[in-house]
Formats: sequence, structure tokens, C-alpha cells
Amino acid sequence: MSIYESFKSVQDLISRTALKSGRNPSDIQLVTVSKTIELKRVIDAVNSGATILGENKVQEAKEKITNYEFQTCLPVGKVTNFKPEWHLIGNLQKNKARHAVQLFDLIHSVNDIALAEELNRQAGKINKVQRILIQVKLSGEVTKHGILEENLMELIGNVSGMSNIKFEGLMTMPPFLENIEKTRPYFRKLKELSVELIKAGHPVKELSMGMSNDFPVAIEEGSTLVRVGTAIFGERHYK
Ligand SMILES: *Cc1c(COP(=O)(O)O)cnc(C)c1O
Repeated sequence: MSIYESFKSVQDLISRTALKSGRNPSDIQLVTVSKTIELKRVIDAVNSGATILGENKVQEAKEKITNYEFQTCLPVGKVTNFKPEWHLIGNLQKNKARHAVQLFDLIHSVNDIALAEELNRQAGKINKVQRILIQVKLSGEVTKHGILEENLMELIGNVSGMSNIKFEGLMTMPPFLENIEKTRPYFRKLKELSVELIKAGHPVKELSMGMSNDFPVAIEEGSTLVRVGTAIFGERHYK
């Protein structure tokens, strides 16, 4: 399958799943995860209709974003200077916050106060209001990043007082499970947390959940941003 075909089939499955679960397909945005993918194929995805690209490393993203060929690749049929959004979906180290605020429209992976403070400071320096999501760790796996549920309210309280940060929602990554039905409780839990936060006066616009193997389940449970790589580009090859 070409990138065009697989991109369209992911979009199609998003729409069908949304409609089946009584949701409006336009309430779910597709983040095309382009980490490790060579620029030429990322451009193919943009020409297939990708409007949001997701990367997990600051340096790799920078190379793509600042590449001349990429900057000038207007998607076929689009007039004016269309630019895709770039989202950081991977763990961010505090010492890369300065670059991150320059590069990314939305950062999905804020998981502690020190990082939020640094992003606020760096965004302030360039007069930007940085949109962020808070990554919540629901699975208890030691390798997964994210803040624990019991510390979430405190972090959001802190973040909502920062003038150069805009809190937009939550992100989670369940453990990889062969049986995708087993991921459902994690997605449901994130949705429940968002309802609690809304009640407490913190608007939650986005729920970033669902990847290639489990995005239909995530959509059924309320996802607004699905992060899909393999289902679009095929298996990743790490150098
Ligand atoms: C790589 C990655 C994805 C995409 O995973 P696929 O299984 O290839 O769709 C989604 N979210 C995060 C945080 C990732 O690092």
C-alpha cells in the first residue's frame, strides 16, 4: 500500500469509528507520527492530507522542520502557504525546553512542574503562549513517562497560573497489549479524569490517546487526538 492509501484508510477508519460511537468525525484529529521516517515519505504524507505531524525527539524534529525541501513542499491542490502543525509526543528534557517552544505547536508530554516552569519561562522569552497537554501515567509501568493521577490536580493548578502556558488537555499511553480490548480501561480512565477536571474548573479540550494498534478503541472512549505512525508508514526502522 502507498502512503496515500494507508493514510486514507486510517482517516476512513477514524470517521467510521466516530460515527459508530455517535461522535462527529471532525472532533478527532489525526497526528501523523513521523519519527524515524525520512523526509521524502513525510512529504508524501503531507501531500496525502496530513495536517499535524508528531515527533518524539527535539533534534530530529528540528532537522525536518527547518529543512528547505520540507518548508517548500506545498501539498498538492493547496494554495497559499500551508504549514502543518508539529506536535511533540515524546518525553522532553528540561534542557531542551528552549528549542521545544520554538518548534512545536503542541507539546503532549508535560509531566512535572519543573518542566512546565521552564517551558513557561522559555515561551515568555519569545512572546509565545505554548499549548500543552499533561501526560498521565495510568499503567504503573516503570518505563512509562507521565505524572501519577494523585499529583495531577496540583500540577494543573500550578500550570493554570502560568501566563505563557495554555493547558489544553491530557495524554496517556497504555501498555502495549495484544488484546486491544484490554487498553479500553486506560482510555476510559483518562476520560473520567478529564470529567473531574472540568468539574473542578479546568477546561479539558483534548484527550490525546490511541496509536496504530488501538486508536479505534480510544475513539470510542473519547479521544480527540490519535497518534498514528506504523499504520501510515509501515514498521519503523531504527538506525
Ligand atoms: C511512536 C509513538 C506513537 C505512534 O505509534 P504507532 O504504534 O507507530 O502508531 C504514538 N505515541 C507516541 C508517544 C509515540 O512515541
